[in-house]
Amino acid sequence: MLPHPELNTIAEWIKQASNVAVLSGAGISTESGIPDFRGPNGLWTKNPEAMRMSDIHYYMNDRDVRVASWKSRLDSPVWSAEPNAGHRALVDLERKGHLHSLVTQNIDGLHLKAGTSPEILVEIHGTAHDVLCMNCGERAPMERALARVRGGEEDPPCRTCGGILKSATISFGQSLVEEDLQRAETAAADSDLFLAIGSSLEVYPAANLPAIALRSGAKLIVINNESTPFDIHAEAVINEPIGETLPRILELL
Ligand code: NAD
Repeated sequence: MLPHPELNTIAEWIKQASNVAVLSGAGISTESGIPDFRGPNGLWTKNPEAMRMSDIHYYMNDRDVRVASWKSRLDSPVWSAEPNAGHRALVDLERKGHLHSLVTQNIDGLHLKAGTSPEILVEIHGTAHDVLCMNCGERAPMERALARVRGGEEDPPCRTCGGILKSATISFGQSLVEEDLQRAETAAADSDLFLAIGSSLEVYPAANLPAIALRSGAKLIVINNESTPFDIHAEAVINEPIGETLPRILELL
């Protein structure tokens, strides 16, 4: 773990900032047992074929991809995962009055489960806890669709219109929800301190948020195991586990 001075400096910046925004990526949830995509143990690193299940084109046009997606949803670690020390530290940061916005690329719902207020949270890639009909737009709890899969439906259609059901997440090739994108961009533009936590910062437009914050004059801090394309623009880069780093910063506040 890092020497204290660098974490002390970050704690000071947090205290001095008038608007702190956080962007979290899959890296904050790996310590809850949910693998990321691009890290050394990431789903795509180990199985590049898995990328097809996250691509809207393959999902909509290939029944085999949908059947494989429903199977993998059944076994997803998301349903039983619990928030870890990193998620909880962000709740503490909010309760201490130091967190104004939390934009997450994650679809696991763990920030909400940890206690982050919905008002400051933007789940920019949606949530895995709901399903959406790709034809009529009807939304329903994921659990109901999973029960149908357990009951033998390999690719359960929408009960209202027969359309294709998908988790209410943004797949590659899909546009973000305009309102969520607006809220996220405003959060970045309004911040004077922007922390990018556990994101490879390679997925756009989410990765555009640190750029927006920098353009508005914010300080950027990157906390991630691996290097990111934004490290050269950051005031501090911490290549340490999030679940250890965030609580230590909180202790110094
Ligand atoms: P990513 O997989 O591209 O990057 C995650 C980064 O976190 C990697 O650089 C990795 O080295 C780092 N990391 C992993 N564990 C860490 C730890 N304990 N401490 C510090 N760093 C750690 O993830 P991404 O940039 O978020 O992009 C993938 C997209 O896929 C996301 O936008 C999201 O929509 C989706 N996704 C979500 C989840 C989830 O909800 N938990 C999981 C996988 C993928």
